[in-house]
Amino acid sequence: MAFYAISVPYRYHIISLGAMGKLIVGNWKMNKGDEAGLQLAKNLIDLKGNVVICPPYTILREVAHLLRDASLKVGAQDCSSHEEGSYTGEVSASMVKSSGCSYVILGHSEVRTHRKETSQMVQKKAALALEAGLIPLICVGETRQDYEAGKTFEVLKSQLDLSIPETTQEIIIAYEPVWAIGTGLVPSLEYIEKTHGFIRQMTGDKYPVLYGGSVTSKNAQAILSIPEVSGVLVGGASLQAEEFIKIINA
Ligand code: PEP
Repeated sequence: MAFYAISVPYRYHIISLGAMGKLIVGNWKMNKGDEAGLQLAKNLIDLKGNVVICPPYTILREVAHLLRDASLKVGAQDCSSHEEGSYTGEVSASMVKSSGCSYVILGHSEVRTHRKETSQMVQKKAALALEAGLIPLICVGETRQDYEAGKTFEVLKSQLDLSIPETTQEIIIAYEPVWAIGTGLVPSLEYIEKTHGFIRQMTGDKYPVLYGGSVTSKNAQAILSIPEVSGVLVGGASLQAEEFIKIINA
């Protein structure tokens, strides 16, 4: 895979997630919002390590209750950019928090695309999430078109500049090339290292940076062995307990 002619000096230190090790996040998307989701959570209950699962809203409270004594944490897949009021269909950050969640995924490319979410909206959501006591997991990533036009770093810089709120609180960034999400396409390890290095440099190396996009039990170990990668955000492969556990064990 070709790299763009943009040099990224390695002037950053690798921020680690401490004794907890690398972070593995499962994004269930619009799947398993019923009994099947509760069963999946039950199958993961004994997992140790730094693991977060993000089920649909409909079972957040039940899953969080189920996992109350587990080391596994629960996150939502989005929240509103408004605090409360007449916003039919939306769920606020404080509602997510009161469901028992510790994390919230924001700026996922599917939300940016299907619901026309802008980076400014992501920033507002992230500020409200922090205020509610949640850790925002902010997604950034270039489209196939951006990638082919050699605009990856330009797009990442703009998304980072506009999506991250001014704060000293904990934030996690997920680099998810849109062309790798759900496609089975995975960038080369060098490309992942380089983009993560760029994100670290752009953000003063203040935040852990996860990789997301077609992570499976077959490629997880290689991706997680890159020092710049603080963990992985897993979509499709987080829907089967056995496969997700293999990724965690990687
Ligand atoms: C995602 O949607 O965040 C994702 C990484 O999906 P997948 O693992 O299925 O590519």
